[in-house]
Amino acid sequence: MEIVRRAQSMREVCKKARANGRTIGLVPTMGALHRGHLSLVRRVKELADVVIVSIFVNPTQFGPEEDFDRYPRDLARDVDLCIAEEVDFVFAPKVDELYPSDAETIVECQALSARIEGVSRPGHFRGVTTVVAKLFNIVEPTLAAFGQKDAQQAVIIKRMVRDLMFDVEVLVLPIVRDEDGVALSSRNSRLTPEQRETARAIPAALNAAREAIEQGVKHVDRVLEAASEPLEAAPGLEIDYLELVGADDLERVEQIQGPTLLLVAARVGDVRLLDNVRLEP
Ligand code: AMP
Repeated sequence: MEIVRRAQSMREVCKKARANGRTIGLVPTMGALHRGHLSLVRRVKELADVVIVSIFVNPTQFGPEEDFDRYPRDLARDVDLCIAEEVDFVFAPKVDELYPSDAETIVECQALSARIEGVSRPGHFRGVTTVVAKLFNIVEPTLAAFGQKDAQQAVIIKRMVRDLMFDVEVLVLPIVRDEDGVALSSRNSRLTPEQRETARAIPAALNAAREAIEQGVKHVDRVLEAASEPLEAAPGLEIDYLELVGADDLERVEQIQGPTLLLVAARVGDVRLLDNVRLEP
């Protein structure tokens, strides 16, 4: 496995692979890799000849008050995990490699980025689409994998790919959870044991919503009530949002009729956690 630091070197590697008729699969990450990331790597390895994991804590997707500086970073450990997964290349550029000081071009999927998570984190998705567009232009992957964990991000990336006519197949893969139901996240490492206990209310809320729907509840307010209960009972958990939206357009819904996403963001201490579940009537 090779670690590539420069965009130009990454581009040359990919050009050569394509010239040899090999398909390229890209897994964009911010590092601090866990089994969620590795599930993406494994699926991509099944589908593509060359697997590239990018590891880049992207400054433009963090707001000024957010945890960019505190975001967990451990490249040596991440590299070991990638070696164990037989990844071909880790692309780990420095910030100024992707953002020279006079960079001024951004990529923004406008309306979709302004909603839900975008209300709490203005500019977040603009940072995501800008960096993913750069990665796509450097690597020109045949396919790229993203997690359903970041459901709104997945919808936005798909829309960007369609709108800007990137020639890449976007895979959205299932959420990997820990045994206690909490979705794996690099930020979980910052939870104290008590906070971790509190965080279990999030999957409990998603399950409560799923059960309500299984019992025939269709009205959004009733489903949200069911989901709110475990969250409100959890000590030290602050709900940022709890929303039911159409799975493809992220528009708010009144009734659960088609595929719907229950999206939740909550703060436990200073750790912000995201989770979601796809619900069908
Ligand atoms: P991140 O490093 O947080 O930017 O995540 C990189 C990719 O891994 C994104 O596409 C995430 O949606 C995905 N991912 C993060 N957590 C999980 C998880 N628990 N299960 C599946 N995919 C995940």
